[in-house]
Amino acid sequence: MENITLNNGIKMPILGYGVYQIPSEACEQCVLDAISVGYRAIDTAQAYGNEEQVGNAIIKCGIPRQELFITTKIWITSAGYEKAKQSIAESLRKLKTDYIDLLLIHQPFNDYYGTYRAMEDAYEQGKVKAIGVSNFYPDRLIDLEHFVRIKPAVNQIETHVFQQQKVAREVMQKLNTQIISWGPFAEGKNNFFQNSVLIEIGKTHQKSVAQIALRFLIQNGIIVIPKSTQKARMKENFDVFNFTLSEQEMARIATLDTGHSLFFSHQNPKTVEWFMSILQ
Ligand code: NAP
Repeated sequence: MENITLNNGIKMPILGYGVYQIPSEACEQCVLDAISVGYRAIDTAQAYGNEEQVGNAIIKCGIPRQELFITTKIWITSAGYEKAKQSIAESLRKLKTDYIDLLLIHQPFNDYYGTYRAMEDAYEQGKVKAIGVSNFYPDRLIDLEHFVRIKPAVNQIETHVFQQQKVAREVMQKLNTQIISWGPFAEGKNNFFQNSVLIEIGKTHQKSVAQIALRFLIQNGIIVIPKSTQKARMKENFDVFNFTLSEQEMARIATLDTGHSLFFSHQNPKTVEWFMSILQ
């Protein structure tokens, strides 16, 4: 497995396993399956409601804790110094571990400066190996990184062949903040798995659309965390290190970029109102 070295020297696998929308009753087995396939990085969040099940798998999988890389994220309702501090303790308890490899602010809403200060303290106490953010657009990221002690190691944002985040990636490169893709298959939107360019390039390499899409991101230095509940697909998504896309193929896939989200923009007032409404 290739690793990416984050801005504080911590190494993170370039390919991990995401557990968003995996029901809690299925999650433990899914994570055990993923680990048995070879995944060592697991991406969860307080808001996914499955940290406990990820924790069960961490205990049961038989892989030494230091060989795993666990990411979780602090939710909007736990924002602010005191609440975030409590929520970090709660995540550690649920994950059944004495440290989190990577801790993120999930969304750029509520008192995220307070949240970040609690994360900096947890980092300095050794409870967290690296800290960062998610869904921070360039404007928010530049602001945050200017006023914090510990620079965000990563920013996890929607990134796939249809939303390649070219501008955000340039900004992150300047700030030395690593990009992690969420939704590497855009959750299947825009007929993702039927895309003719990806199918054609896949035929050349005897690889699937999913494998070409992941490989494109990996060759761009982007960390990927695809989700699947099916073990055969977990294997397929893991099997992306034995071929290389040519420069021409990379350039062709680069033309699929639409430059905008297939989900929603965090800068759209309607999106922000929606987030506020689900907190009620
Ligand atoms: P995704 O990985 O883009 O897509 C998952 C979908 O693709 C599922 O419907 C899955 O179905 C299907 N799939 C997976 N592998 C496939 C394959 N080889 N062939 C065909 N279909 C396949 O979407 P995501 O789960 O939203 O994103 C990945 C991870 O990113 C999440 O799990 C989460 O950890 C993280 N994330 C973070 C945020 C954030 O705000 N920070 C937001 C969204 C996601 P099956 O399960 O049935 O295989």
